[in-house]
Amino acid sequence: MLDVIISGAGIAGLAAAISLRRCGHKVTLYERSALNNEVGAAINVPPNVSRFLLPWGFDTKRARFRASPGMYLMSHKTLDPILIQDHRNNAETYGAPLFFSHRVDLHEELRRLATDPDGPGIPAVIHLKSEAVSYVRTSAHHVPAPPPFFFPSPFPPTVLVPETRQICAQSTRV
Ligand SMILES: Cc1cc2nc3c(=O)[nH]c(=O)nc-3n(C[C@H](O)[C@H](O)[C@H](O)COP(=O)(O)OP(=O)(O)OC[C@H]3O[C@@H](n4cnc5c(N)ncnc54)[C@H](O)[C@@H]3O)c2cc1C
Repeated sequence: MLDVIISGAGIAGLAAAISLRRCGHKVTLYERSALNNEVGAAINVPPNVSRFLLPWGFDTKRARFRASPGMYLMSHKTLDPILIQDHRNNAETYGAPLFFSHRVDLHEELRRLATDPDGPGIPAVIHLKSEAVSYVRTSAHHVPAPPPFFFPSPFPPTVLVPETRQICAQSTRV
């Protein structure tokens, strides 16, 4: 089991935390904001992401996701269709639907999955108003690079710091 520190409880940080707790690791996130003023608008959650989210137990109802039957682009002058995409068979073809979501709902549900006491492994702990200001690489403890696909997240990883490195986190008022 690794003792992992993640800097930032945004979409990437929370997704990393969920992946890691599911693998049996202990995760602590340091988030500089209070996470009480998240903003955003529509976010596409395509099948290469949703096919990870669904097995994680991501609740699409709670997160108010909408599965897209299709999208079309049209000319701003004539309103004629330029491109039509049919997403009705995404589940069969790509393993999961394309969802439309709101960033805040996506973030909330990821946060729930990362910290839910009833989820698999150890619930991640988030320290709010805690900014990571630097980290110290201790040369005495060499951490080998993880093998490919060790980190099964659809989102790009944020800063993952195994226990042999140390993050200096300081409390800040935001
Ligand atoms: C205000 C806003 C609205 C957006 N709306 C949309 C949208 O509507 N549609 C869309 O497709 N995309 C949107 N995006 C982009 C999308 O949200 C990002 O691509 C996505 O959130 C990136 O995920 P992330 O985890 O890398 O970054 P973020 O979600 O930005 O998370 C980074 C987190 O790290 C924290 N942090 C940063 N530095 C530190 C530090 N030193 N110590 C501790 N914590 C730290 C931040 O407070 C933040 O919570 C939006 C982005 C923002 C900022």
